[in-house]
Parts: sequence; structure tokens; C-alpha cells
Amino acid sequence: MEVWMTTPACAAVRYCYRIPGKDQGGGSPGDLPEKAPEDQISDEDEELILCRQCDRPITRPAERMEMAGAHKHTFANPHGIVFEIGCFRAAFGCGYSGPTTGEFTWFQGYRWKVAVCGSCTSHLGWLFLSTGGDAFHGLILDRLKSSE
Ligand SMILES: [Zn+2]
Repeated sequence: MEVWMTTPACAAVRYCYRIPGKDQGGGSPGDLPEKAPEDQISDEDEELILCRQCDRPITRPAERMEMAGAHKHTFANPHGIVFEIGCFRAAFGCGYSGPTTGEFTWFQGYRWKVAVCGSCTSHLGWLFLSTGGDAFHGLILDRLKSSE
């Protein structure tokens, strides 16, 4: 108790210098702190996942999801080329190319479309679409990089 009686006085003085405009006197607790919309992608501090080729933001870690029990999947296409893909709910930086097809699909019940970088058009993966209206992206992990 007595320790607390003496030391905070010093600390309080320092605080006064560090936070000059601290006037919470008549502030109502119900004031909105800020009106920034939560689901926007404009926040520059936010970690993003970028196109490795051109640095365009493609998606973000928060969009990672699991399909068939895993985020990462390794598949080979009919030409024997192996891709390691990660599943993402959304990939706002992607563009799409070509028709939607169900041929050689990697996910049962899903048709797919080629997903490319919306800026440099590198092939980044695929958009998978179910007949029930679900959609997700399978993005080739070594064609992406983190913004960190
Ligand atoms: Zn790109």
C-alpha cells in the first residue's frame, strides 16, 4: 500500500508530459472510437498475400480456409505437374480466365476456372465453384508471397 502511495506520483507527472491532450473529463463512454469499416482491405498495416511476380495484393491470411480437412493440398494436373495449393475463401486480387469446367477436378462436386493475377496475369491457381453456389480459391503457394 505505502509503496503505491509514493511511486505513482512520479509516473503521473511523466504521463502528463507524454499525453498532453488527455482530456477525458466529460467524455461519454458511448462515443464511437472510430468509424473504420471492419471488412475493408485498405488497411496498410494488414498482412497481405502478394503475387510473387508483381507484388499485387491477392488475398490475406485471414481468408485461409480448410477444404476436406486441410488448408494445403498437393495435386498433379493431367500433365503430371505437381502443385501445392492453399485454400482461400476469397482472393480479391485475382482475375479469371477461360471457361468453367468440371474436368479433372480436384475437389469432388466442384467445377473450376483458371485464376490469374489481376495485374500481371500470372497463373496463380483456380477458382472452385460448387453447384450449390459455394466458391473458394485454390492458390499455388509458391507463386505467392507474404507482404512482411
Ligand atoms: Zn502479378
